[in-house]
Amino acid sequence: MTTRIRRYVETDTGHRVPNHKSKCRHFHGHRYRFEAEIEGDIVDTPGVSEEGMVMDFSDVSQILMEHIHDVVDHAFIVYSGDEEAKLALSHLNSEHRTFVVPFIPTAENLAKWAFDQVEPHIKNSYGTALKLVAMHVRETPKSWATWMP
Ligand SMILES: [Zn+2]
Repeated sequence: MTTRIRRYVETDTGHRVPNHKSKCRHFHGHRYRFEAEIEGDIVDTPGVSEEGMVMDFSDVSQILMEHIHDVVDHAFIVYSGDEEAKLALSHLNSEHRTFVVPFIPTAENLAKWAFDQVEPHIKNSYGTALKLVAMHVRETPKSWATWMP
């Protein structure tokens, strides 16, 4: 028997999908939601802070903030193969947060990226099975992508 928990972080992030047949090829942004889904046994060690929890939500939040939010919030994500966008962004001053990735920044690809950012930090403290099972990315209120290994 296992239990799953979810916690999300939100970012305001720009991107474009360079080959898109319609408006997604333009520079624009989203209020992204990156939601980690973690599965594990409930900690039953008496008296510890996490007793009764799979993992402390605040610890999950801290990982999401450091490894997702602080990387892409108020940044522009650009595909390394998108020479036109990289040239345009190169005219901005060095304080501009341009985040170059080796993939087209769709919600699907960002879900895998976010999973890989977070997964090494989901650690097991009390000998219980604990793992990141999925990363969900909401690009718009109607549009989600999920990546799971
Ligand atoms: Zn978009």
